[in-house]
Amino acid sequence: MSKLQQRMFLEIRNKEIFNQVQRYSFEYMETIFERNVFPTKKALNDLSIFEEELQEDSISAKDVLELLNTYGNPATTATLGGKYFGFVTGSAIPVGLAAKSLGTFWDQAPSMNVLSPVGSKLESVVEEWLVDLFSLPSKTSVGFVSGTSAANLCALAAARYHILKKNNWDINEKGLRNSPKIRIVTSKHAHSTVLKAIGILGLGKENIEWIDVDNQGRIIPELIPPLDRNTILILQAGNVNSGAFDDFDLICEKANVADAWVHIDGAFGLWAKAVKELNYLTKGIEKASSWAVDGHKTLNTPYDCGIVMCKDQEAITSALHMSGSYIVESNQRDGMFYTPEMSRRARIIELWAILKYLGKNGIDELILTMHLRAKQFAIAISKIEGFYVENEIVFNQVIVRCETDEATEQVMHTVQELRECWLGGSSWFGKKVMRMSVCSWATTEENIAKTVKSFQKALALVLTKTNA
Ligand SMILES: *Cc1c(COP(=O)(O)O)cnc(C)c1O
Repeated sequence: MSKLQQRMFLEIRNKEIFNQVQRYSFEYMETIFERNVFPTKKALNDLSIFEEELQEDSISAKDVLELLNTYGNPATTATLGGKYFGFVTGSAIPVGLAAKSLGTFWDQAPSMNVLSPVGSKLESVVEEWLVDLFSLPSKTSVGFVSGTSAANLCALAAARYHILKKNNWDINEKGLRNSPKIRIVTSKHAHSTVLKAIGILGLGKENIEWIDVDNQGRIIPELIPPLDRNTILILQAGNVNSGAFDDFDLICEKANVADAWVHIDGAFGLWAKAVKELNYLTKGIEKASSWAVDGHKTLNTPYDCGIVMCKDQEAITSALHMSGSYIVESNQRDGMFYTPEMSRRARIIELWAILKYLGKNGIDELILTMHLRAKQFAIAISKIEGFYVENEIVFNQVIVRCETDEATEQVMHTVQELRECWLGGSSWFGKKVMRMSVCSWATTEENIAKTVKSFQKALALVLTKTNA
C-alpha cells in the first residue's frame, strides 16, 4: 500500500474530516438567514489567498478543508436564504441538501442501469411523476441534465433531428452541410440560452424569425408567421423579467395544424402547472413537443438540476444517442440515452427526495407562497413615492424602476451595498429596471417587509446625495 493510500484509508476510518465538514455546514446553515446577503469587501479581497502555485507535496486533508471554509464561506452569496432575489436563483430545500449529501457519499453515475440501479430506478420513477405533474403526453421521455441551458439544447437537438428525419436527412450521419432548411420562429424576449442553443446546433441566429411581444413580454399570437413542418417554434413559460407566459393553448393549436415542432422554455415558470391557483398560466402546454424546466429554480432543489422532456422518444434518444462495444444496455432505464453526457452525477437523488417530501400539495404551497410574497412586495413598493412596478405579477417576478434610469441604477447599487438583500438589473422596453425574483422557500412576509425598507432607505440615500 502506498503512503497516500494509507493516509486516505485512515481518513475514512477516523472520520475526522467528515465531522469537520459537518460542523462547518451546520455553522453555515445557522447563520445564512441572518448574514449579509452579498459578501463584504474584505471577504472578496481575501479570496486572493487562493491565488498560488500548486505546491509539490500532499498536505493534510484537515488543512485543505479549513482553508476552504475560512476563505470560501464568507465569499459565498446567501442564495440559500430568503433575501436573495437576483437571477431567479432559488434556494435549496433542507431535505434536498441532506439527500444530496448522502448521494455525494454514494457517488453514483446513472448513465447505465448496471452502473447505478438506484439512480436508474429513481430516474424512471421521477420521469413518471413529472409527466403526471405537468400533465404531459404519457410517452414523454425525461432527461436529467445540469440546467435549462442544457435542457433547451437537448430539446432543440431532438427537434432538429426530427425535422431533418422527416426530410429523409439523418443529421447524425450527414451533418448540416447542404441539409434541408430548418426555420426557427421565436419571441423577441426568448432567453439568451435559447439563442445559445440555436448557435451551438448550427441553426444560425441570423435565421431566426422574430415575433414581437406585448407589454408583458408575451408573444402576440397574430404576429406569428405561417408555420410549416420544417419549423421549430420556441415559446416561453415565465419571461425572465416579467414572469409572463405565452398563450400556449392558442399558439400550439396553430403549430400542430402546421405540423411544426413547439418547444417551451419553462425554466422556472413551468412549475405553475403544479399550482391550482396558477395553472391557468400553463393551459395548453401538453400540446407542445418538448419542454425544458429547472429543479434548481422554483422547486428549490440544490444546484444543479435541469430537466428536458420530449414527447417524441425516438427524436431525443436518436439526437443524443451514443454507442460503444462496452456499453451494457438494459431493459430498464439507461439514463445516458436521454442526456448529452455519458457520465454525470446522480442529481436525481435530491430531486426525488424533494418531490417525495413535498407531495403534490407541498409543491402547490411552496410555489403559491413565492407568488404571494412577490405580490406583497409589488403592492408595498408601489405605495412608496418614487418606485414604479412595471409588470403584472402573474408569477414570482417583479420589475421595479425609479423616476429616471439614473435613479434606478443608483438605487439598485445602493440596495446592493446595503447587503440586506440582493437583486440585479435589467432593461425593460428601453428602460433600466430592477428585477426582483422571489424563488426561495425561505422568503417570509418579514423578509419582504425588510426588503421594502431597504429599498426605501436606498432611495432616500440617493435623493439626499442628488440634492446635496
Ligand atoms: C434560468 C433560465 C434559463 C437557463 O437555465 P439554467 O438552469 O441557468 O441553465 C433558460 N431560460 C429561462 C427562461 C431561464 O429563466
